[in-house]
Amino acid sequence: MRIANVNGRLAVAVGDGWVDVEQASGGAFAADPQAIYDRWADFTAWASTISVDAATVGGALGLPVPAPRQLIAIGLNYREHAMESNLDIPEHPVVFAKFQSSLIGPGATVTLPSDGVDWEVELVIVIGKEAHGVAVADAWDYVAGLTVGQDLSWRAVQLRGPAPQFSIGKSYPGFSPLGPVVVTPDEFADKNDLAISCSLNGEVLQEGRTSDLIFPVAEIVSRLSQSLTLYPGDLIYTGTPKGVGAGRTPKRFLVEGSLVSSIEGVGDLTINLVNGF
Ligand code: ZN
Repeated sequence: MRIANVNGRLAVAVGDGWVDVEQASGGAFAADPQAIYDRWADFTAWASTISVDAATVGGALGLPVPAPRQLIAIGLNYREHAMESNLDIPEHPVVFAKFQSSLIGPGATVTLPSDGVDWEVELVIVIGKEAHGVAVADAWDYVAGLTVGQDLSWRAVQLRGPAPQFSIGKSYPGFSPLGPVVVTPDEFADKNDLAISCSLNGEVLQEGRTSDLIFPVAEIVSRLSQSLTLYPGDLIYTGTPKGVGAGRTPKRFLVEGSLVSSIEGVGDLTINLVNGF
């Protein structure tokens, strides 16, 4: 199943169109795209009964998960990215928070606050069931779906001392693009091996595969849940493959234009960048 925010309302892909969930369910499920994760099992059971002849709606796709209780991110989760960052391969997941105020959806415009903002395409997990102390073998049962994210990063702010400030350097307005849709795990031929890439104004900047994750999806959910309680609708950015601008010689950062982030089986998340400095 592919779900989206169409004109601010929860929708499910049926055939080539989108079915409005509140209308099609006779009000059994709300139009709020965030609320559905609190009723995920009921929703997926109902959604499997939607007729392919259901009336479809059109419109602009918006932020598919607009108000997660928690927005968690994993750093240094691909070997070659840890190496280009001149940091050791982590023994435990490197965890930080992004703030909800930095979320934006497909097609949005991000105003760059400086000429030092880097790109990081990431696979993003959407949690579908409250999780605490979950075993790796059970962890996928707690995942509602996967989507595409960018973990935009103002490196100078992220790394300024005396201790690194990942959460602030990665949470300026628009620094957490997400979308275009949430895809349930059963839709993927191999949910643990997806092509992931991003390009700026047509130039490919990053290319990798999620099979290279040091801590894959199930491992991340399990390990985070040993400490935290994860709630339905929470988002977990899982880390970025090699090819970030700060790892290059000379360093490169984002410029005005179109940033397209892609994951196999999910689609393209496009945002527009404009200078605000
Ligand atoms: Zn990241």
